[in-house]
Amino acid sequence: MNRTIDQPRPLPGAWRQSLFEETMHLDALILLPGPAEDETSPPWLTPIQGRTLLEDTVWNLSRHGIRRLFLAAGSGGADLTAHLGNLFPDVNFVDLAVDGLSAALDATKGRITKSFVLADGRALFDCNYLGLELLRKEHCAAAVVALPTSTPSHPVLLGDGGIPSIFGEGAPGPVAMDSGLCVLERDAVVDDAPETVTALLRKLSSTGRLQGVVLQGFHLDMRLPGDLATAEKQLAQWRVKPAVFLDRDGVLNEDHGYVHTPEDFAWITNAPLAVKALNDSGVLVIVLTNQSGVARGYFTEDEFREFTGWIDAQLAEHGAHVDATYHCPHHPEHGEPPYRATCDCRKPLPGLIDQAVAQWSIALNKSTLIGDSDRDLEAAAARDIPALRFEGGDLLNFVRKHDLA
Ligand SMILES: [Mg+2]
Ligand SMILES: [Zn+2]
Repeated sequence: MNRTIDQPRPLPGAWRQSLFEETMHLDALILLPGPAEDETSPPWLTPIQGRTLLEDTVWNLSRHGIRRLFLAAGSGGADLTAHLGNLFPDVNFVDLAVDGLSAALDATKGRITKSFVLADGRALFDCNYLGLELLRKEHCAAAVVALPTSTPSHPVLLGDGGIPSIFGEGAPGPVAMDSGLCVLERDAVVDDAPETVTALLRKLSSTGRLQGVVLQGFHLDMRLPGDLATAEKQLAQWRVKPAVFLDRDGVLNEDHGYVHTPEDFAWITNAPLAVKALNDSGVLVIVLTNQSGVARGYFTEDEFREFTGWIDAQLAEHGAHVDATYHCPHHPEHGEPPYRATCDCRKPLPGLIDQAVAQWSIALNKSTLIGDSDRDLEAAAARDIPALRFEGGDLLNFVRKHDLA
C-alpha cells in the first residue's frame, strides 16, 4: 500500500540531535606487541598476499561500524596510524604510543567509549562484535570473552581458568581464553590492570561479572608455530565472503512509500534479529535500495544518509549491523538533473550490485538476494545471483527457513 507524498517534507530535528547519543558506539583497542626473539618483524605486519593481518583486523572492525581504534604499538605507532589512515579514511586511529595491556588501558583513560572491543593484533577472530556487546549488557557483565571453537588448547582453560559460566552450545573441553576476543566495560578495567589479558580476565572473574561464549567463526592465531603456510590459504578464503543482499523497503521495513523519517519507519517483524542472525553466520549484509524520493524532491541524499545512520543505530541496539548500504537516488522522469536521469543503478538494473562488488570481495556464487519486488529479482538475475522473494511476515523465520542463518 503506497502513500502519495505531494511535496517535500522537512525532517524533524529532534532525532537528528539524539542520533549519535543513542548509538551503541564501540571503540576498539588493539594490542600490537613487537616481534618475538626469533622474529624479524611482528606477525601482524607480515604481508600475506598483499595485506597484513592488522589490515584485515581493521577492516573487520570497521565493517561492524567501529570507527575509532586505539593502537598500542609502542614507538612504531605513529607510522602505523599514518599508514592505516591512508588505507581506511573513514576510521579514526589513535596512537597510544605505549606497549602492553596495562599501559594501554591507562592511556585510554577518559578517552575510550563506555565499553570497547579488546583485540590482540597477533590473532584475528571474526565474530559479531556488536552481538558481544549486547551479551555484555544483557548479563550486566564487565567483560565478555568470546572463544573460537577452532582453537587448539592453550594454557588457560575454561572452568579451571576461572570463568564462572559459559553459555551457548555446550562448551567443549579446553578452550583458550587468551586467543579470543573481549568486550570490556571501561570503568571495570581501566584502573590497576594487570599485564596480560589472561590475568585481567582472571581478575574480572573474581567479581562475578565475566561471561564467556564459544562461537564459530574464522580464527587465525599467528602466534602458533607454522602458521604462515596455512595462514595464506585460510586468509585468502576468508577474504572473499558470501553476501546476503537485502532490499530495504518491504524487506527490512514496512513499505509505506518513500519512508525517510523515524516516524514513518516500522520494522518488518523480527528484521533486526534476522540481520543479527546473518551477522552471526559470518556473511556480509548489504542493502541495495531504490530511493527515487531523492529525485522527486521528497528528501535529499544527505538526509537519506543521515536516516540510514539512524537505522544503523537501531540495528546496533539489537547487536546487528549492515556492512554497507547502496542506493539509487535517480528517476528517469521525475525531478531535475542530475537526479532525473536514466542511470544504471536503478533496479531492475544491476548497477547497485556492481557498486557493491567493486568495493567488497564477494563470493557471488555463494550469495543470495532477498527482495519483495520483481525489480529486485531481475537485478539479481542479471548477475546470476540466486534470489528469494520475501512476501511479508517474519524475516527471521524467512532467513532460517532458507538456511541463510
Ligand atoms: Mg522493496
Ligand atoms: Zn540510479
